[in-house]
Amino acid sequence: MIGLPSKGESAEQILDAMRASQQQDVNWHDGRVWSLVFHARDDVSELLREAYSLFLPTNGLNPTAFPSLQKFEAEVVAMTASLLGAGEAVVGNMTSGGTESILMAVKTARDWARVQKPDIDTPEMILPATAHPAFEKAAEYFSVKTVHIPVQADFRANVDAARAAVTPNTILMVGSAPSYPQGVIDPIAEMAAMARERGFLFHVDACVGGFMLPFVRRLGYPLPEFDFSVPGVTSISVDLHKYAYAAKGASVILYRNKALRRHQFFVYPNWPGGIYASPTMTGTRPGGAIAAAWAVMHYLGAEGYLAIADVVMKTVKKLRKGINAINGVYILGDPAMSVLAIGSDSLNVYEIADELAARGWHLDRQQFPPSLHLTVTYAHQQVVDQFLADLAQSVTQVRRFDVNRLAGSLQVKLVQMTAKLLPPPLMSRLAAHASSLVGFKGAHLPQRAAPVYGMMAALPNRDDLNEMVMDLMDQWTQPETPADNEP
Ligand SMILES: *Cc1c(COP(=O)(O)O)cnc(C)c1O
Repeated sequence: MIGLPSKGESAEQILDAMRASQQQDVNWHDGRVWSLVFHARDDVSELLREAYSLFLPTNGLNPTAFPSLQKFEAEVVAMTASLLGAGEAVVGNMTSGGTESILMAVKTARDWARVQKPDIDTPEMILPATAHPAFEKAAEYFSVKTVHIPVQADFRANVDAARAAVTPNTILMVGSAPSYPQGVIDPIAEMAAMARERGFLFHVDACVGGFMLPFVRRLGYPLPEFDFSVPGVTSISVDLHKYAYAAKGASVILYRNKALRRHQFFVYPNWPGGIYASPTMTGTRPGGAIAAAWAVMHYLGAEGYLAIADVVMKTVKKLRKGINAINGVYILGDPAMSVLAIGSDSLNVYEIADELAARGWHLDRQQFPPSLHLTVTYAHQQVVDQFLADLAQSVTQVRRFDVNRLAGSLQVKLVQMTAKLLPPPLMSRLAAHASSLVGFKGAHLPQRAAPVYGMMAALPNRDDLNEMVMDLMDQWTQPETPADNEP
């Protein structure tokens, strides 16, 4: 059992140990990871660090104590809104991230409907299949029913399906600009028009696109309208810790007007501790994240963001050309900006991911259809040639016969067969133990993950998969003891 060390250690010792731990992490600085980290330049990171530490102890919960943070937040929200076709009436708040912004949008819609449509018992939210899981989370947390609609062959939401999904209980429809899995923009104008006509709310998830698309458009790339300039759009989420290159823990939720945002606020006036008011989910809000966001927006300015977007889009162009030139793989759909997915009709992309991992690249594996995800950032301009060379090699390697891979695919086939033969309760019990069977250890994937992904896809029951993943989550918060590292 790990307990608190009885004596404190030296700062030097501690930082050394932490740097050693960090050695196991992905190398984000050199552009080896294609998700999770948005790194612009070292001078930007330096400013973030300074701004964050300057406000490290501060708390955005009570603006009267820190008028500085109040000013920063108000200006960050206004600067963000100004990029997204907002008129004077648009208001918003900073949150800790895209998920919190989305939670707020759904909670606001639910409470808006309680007032505006009191006859609705079971409020419904219409979600394209590609919408971010944060909406599912919000639905679970706030008891809103999700109604899923499919996407078309180009991975954009199917408008006819959206129209058919509307019922008298619909309170909210969602579109992404762009979606995370394939980076395409849903038909926002058509869907928002539906919302306006039928009298429900429409949220644009611009978490990844909000700070990129406006600059991509200024660079001359053709883009559809997706923001408050579209009638019917009532709220937009924009992450600053993505393409605004802010420190983690910074996002903005915007509403078309104050009246709508009222449904987001929480006030409890009867507490012995005082009148408690909180605009968003969290109580204490880290002042550092607010301050660092303000700092980077002032540091880069519109010109800085435009120049970075230009570099990113040129990197994307090179990538798209290079990927499509490799026989056997292609880009899914027609991505609007710098979020894209690599698919294949003839090869197992999870095996390609394993080969790329062996060459030091970290890519997220996606499903329906199987694909590999790339979020292109400024850091990738330096590695694009190397990546394309390694991708070509990986594809060649996967084409070749390989005993390990054959074993992996046999394992998958075995699971499929077993699933057909065993009675469902037994299969469920097996699956409950599968997280250890397939060789997961804490947060680390085994070196070759393709068979694991294949097996997960082969599980006949999605509930089994849920159980497996929850087992993993239990393990994540369990500290590793030295014995775990022994063979
Ligand atoms: C990243 C992302 C989110 C969630 O944001 P977090 O900051 O990870 O909570 C939601 N929607 C889209 C499209 C995203 O890319």
